[in-house]
Amino acid sequence: MERTAKSRGRELTIANWSQPPAGRAIIAEMSILTPLADLVRARPWRAHVRPGWLGTQRRGAPRSKIQESFAGRFQPPGASSWQAELKAAVRDAGELCQRLHLPPQLVAGSAAAAGEFPVFVPPAYLARIVPGDPTDPLLRQVLPVAAESLPAAGFTADPVADAAARDQPGLLRKYAGRALLVTTGACAVHCRYCFRHHYPYEETPHADAAWEPALAAIAADPTLHEVILSGGDPLMLVDDRLARLADRIAAIPHVARLRVHTRLPIMIPGRVTDELLTWLAGGRLAPVMVIHANHAREIDEEVAAALDRLCRAGVLLLNQAVLLAGVNDSADALCALSERLVAVGVTPYYLHQLDRVAGAAHFEVAEDRGRAIVAEMQRRLPGYMVPKYVREVAGEASKMPI
Ligand code: SF4
Repeated sequence: MERTAKSRGRELTIANWSQPPAGRAIIAEMSILTPLADLVRARPWRAHVRPGWLGTQRRGAPRSKIQESFAGRFQPPGASSWQAELKAAVRDAGELCQRLHLPPQLVAGSAAAAGEFPVFVPPAYLARIVPGDPTDPLLRQVLPVAAESLPAAGFTADPVADAAARDQPGLLRKYAGRALLVTTGACAVHCRYCFRHHYPYEETPHADAAWEPALAAIAADPTLHEVILSGGDPLMLVDDRLARLADRIAAIPHVARLRVHTRLPIMIPGRVTDELLTWLAGGRLAPVMVIHANHAREIDEEVAAALDRLCRAGVLLLNQAVLLAGVNDSADALCALSERLVAVGVTPYYLHQLDRVAGAAHFEVAEDRGRAIVAEMQRRLPGYMVPKYVREVAGEASKMPI
């Protein structure tokens, strides 16, 4: 697969991809912004992340009736700038420390970890980190540390057995009634504990046509009622591509729900665009979005406004958090998160025990401690504000309650 950057500067035109002719014709029309090229450079180990999949909408495309009906009703100020936010992301641990007035020694010894999984922090999230505090719970999620390079017994590259669940390219099947599409390896932030840290994203379909085997498998199984778009972060893809995929899924009669797993509304609230609301909430499928926030301070007023737009468009909003040492491993922190989530229209859904992915052992909280924290949450909060404390066990038919 090749791509050719014909010009640099404000725009970059992509051509010469190994696409089917129709795909090439579409892609030839696409101009994308420089942040996307930067993103690809930032993630060389994920060479499959190609600029045409990221960034802005194809220009000049006529709006459908449903797009017109949504236009302007939900558009946040600056919504078109989410690509600019990606471009402005901090990609270097030293710069992260410098921007936060932290001593550079904080990242001493973490070069290997940062080399394998580079720093990536968008400005909107950076602004929520308390400068000068090396223990800040938001910082801890994104700052590489030397401990990531230490081996730890039981921590592996594929802790949840994604490899065994692969059914077709990009399609994972683990649980009854649901199918999961791994749409991209790109994310708007690099979480140091990510369970798909080592996932082989090069196998993810890139062209629309490459989704056909996965879509055919979903169409052939009438027991599937929900399709989950995951990644990486599916909202790193441009909306017109996601809209085409959503249309194809909606054309499968037995699929009733479309679920999106994403951290982008937290990282870059401007990603909640009119176009996103149109393809997610404007079609036949019941829309569900599972966001990922681990700490109350991740949800500022801009994030709250983005979530409100999703709510008002009819999207069911759930949150999954990961129990992380030094981030949210206390009843105070998790009660505050639940309070904040419910205040902005999101139901606390899951509290995950850390998936034992290589490089993340320093984030692990013992299950006994987790149980005690959740028991304290139950004493303090109404039941609907207490997430299910679960862990994923490879080969089990559902998440296992702890
Ligand atoms: S946003 Fe999700 S998939 Fe992306 S790095 Fe963070 S945990 Fe992993």
